[in-house]
Amino acid sequence: MARQFLTLLGATGTIGCNTLEVVALHPDRYHLFALTAHRNIEKLAQQCQRFAPRFAVVEHAADAERLHRLLTAGGAPPETEILHGPEALSRVASAPEVSIVMAAIVGAAGLAPTLAAAQAGKRILLANKEALVMSGALLMDAVRTSGAILLPVDSEHNAVFQSLPHHHAQGLKAVGVSRITLTASGGPFLHRALSDLMRVTPDEACKHPNWVMGRKISVDSATMMNKGLELIEACWLFGARPDQVDIVIHPESIVHSMVAYVDGSVIAQLGCPDMRTPIAHALAFPERISSGVAALDLATIGALHFQALDPQRFPAVSLAYRAIRTGGTAPAILNAANEVAVAAFLERQMRFDQIPGLIAKVLDTLSPESGDTLATVLDADARSRAIAAALIQQQAFS
Ligand code: NDP
Repeated sequence: MARQFLTLLGATGTIGCNTLEVVALHPDRYHLFALTAHRNIEKLAQQCQRFAPRFAVVEHAADAERLHRLLTAGGAPPETEILHGPEALSRVASAPEVSIVMAAIVGAAGLAPTLAAAQAGKRILLANKEALVMSGALLMDAVRTSGAILLPVDSEHNAVFQSLPHHHAQGLKAVGVSRITLTASGGPFLHRALSDLMRVTPDEACKHPNWVMGRKISVDSATMMNKGLELIEACWLFGARPDQVDIVIHPESIVHSMVAYVDGSVIAQLGCPDMRTPIAHALAFPERISSGVAALDLATIGALHFQALDPQRFPAVSLAYRAIRTGGTAPAILNAANEVAVAAFLERQMRFDQIPGLIAKVLDTLSPESGDTLATVLDADARSRAIAAALIQQQAFS
């Protein structure tokens, strides 16, 4: 088969690095068109030396110069052209040569290039759930209009996608689906005394029992806002109503999610908790390629456990149900307040147990609007961030 050109947004993150590991197994199938990064210029330089992408993109001109120095240190002219700035991200995500875009920038910063890829009709491998949470209507509309293909990389949504029939775009009811169940590990604090949550440190919150992930999503997993964002993501990806999606705690992270059908059948996807599996699936779909992931050995694992979600322990999930039911810009407001709260917790400006209360307060303060233009979404995002930051400064959390 002809080699496909891939733009990897967020190459230096955990999803980015896992993607490069899968790509390295299939040099005959994939060629790197662009790699992008934000702060980790050394890692980007190493990736450029190894994969020789046509472009590397960073945010600031000074970082572009630093990358150039690193790439020319050996005396040879770099094979990679270096670009900088937000427009450059959208440019490499929508360039005509590119067929696949991995959207793996964390947070709202990934929205513009993901939207540009959707408008340009690319095959988008979506890890950056925040983009879909913020602008579900816009992104799905752009995908439909351009004929882009949106494939979920989030392990739960990738599992749901694999458990649905190919013609599920006709609607869940039409294909006999009754429920979608997202599994959740419960994160590092599933069994921690509730009274102890006020003392947890950023490093404890980032130590996930099953997955190695970036710090923002690790904190989201500890609060379970990650599952809340995934609920919203599932509604957009699969045309589900919020009441058709439920969440069950499954501490082993082996069953990645399930789809229940009207005849009583439940189809699930299982695998070792390793993001290279959903990445390889989305890269090659509908074909299958090796991912480098170890085979699942259920006999060694022995037992799989499931339990109901405790809303008192994980109030962030109810906030996400509230936001998606409210609709319009409410999910964008939720997402922005969460990003600000997580950053403040990581910088020790607020406690872990104060995160949901802060988000609830921002949701109470701002009136959502219809989120059908990028301007209204970005405005809601900015206003939510400003209110969250002011509340943190006043230490007014709940
Ligand atoms: P990381 O924090 O490990 O990586 C984030 C990437 O985004 C890095 O390449 C980082 O660059 C880049 N980045 C950060 N801020 C900006 C910015 N302002 N502009 C441009 N680029 C930026 O995150 P993960 O890889 O863990 O997660 C990425 C996305 O995938 C998130 O949306 C997450 O929710 C989702 N996801 C992750 C999973 C996982 O297992 N990790 C599972 C499912 C979904 P740099 O490092 O150079 O600063």
